[in-house]
Amino acid sequence: MDKHGLKGLVFPRWAIGKFLETLPQLIEVAGGLRKADLVVRNVNLVDVAGGRVVENVSIVAYSGFIAALVSASDDEVYIGPSTMVINGGGSYAAPGFIDAHVHVETSFLRPSEFSKLALMHGTTMIVTDPHDIANAGGLKHLLAFTEEAIRQPLKVLVQVPSCVPPTRSEVDNPGYTLSVKDVEELLDSGLFHSLGEFMDYASVVNRDSETLGKINLLKP
Ligand SMILES: [Zn+2]
Repeated sequence: MDKHGLKGLVFPRWAIGKFLETLPQLIEVAGGLRKADLVVRNVNLVDVAGGRVVENVSIVAYSGFIAALVSASDDEVYIGPSTMVINGGGSYAAPGFIDAHVHVETSFLRPSEFSKLALMHGTTMIVTDPHDIANAGGLKHLLAFTEEAIRQPLKVLVQVPSCVPPTRSEVDNPGYTLSVKDVEELLDSGLFHSLGEFMDYASVVNRDSETLGKINLLKP
């Protein structure tokens, strides 16, 4: 991957690995054996699974993860001298929205600015395929976008653009190409979440070998 300049980049801090590392401590917090970092008291919890609102809940958090959801009258056991306690003032607390398909660059905002606006409106995770930036700026700009995107407080799952150029027709040539090998290396880099949308359906229907080669990378 050195030729792509990926060496030394870190895996996103919100990746599943951090949760698994923290799991023993989260269990301790949930069991009252370890004090929480943060308790947000007095919120109305929107229970999307149960289709109801639970009043007067305390959210018990540790190291960036929710360890327990308890009745506000039972939260003292989770609070120690260094626990930050916030009064939610009866606000509603709900899981963040996940935008399963968005192209950040077509908002004309860089990832850091997009992140601020998305969070403000309740979206906490996006899956983005930066195929427009890859077509307009090639690998260099794709990587610059990705490096910034994965460091935002918004959880950004970046996909490897599958269609650079957008189609295999002669009239659709922006000047950049991601080959099967490029796509394979990017998928293997650990920076990306998955393969992006396959908008070049004509090449799929025509059984184009380069196109099928990219799809074949998704074999288990
Ligand atoms: Zn799209």
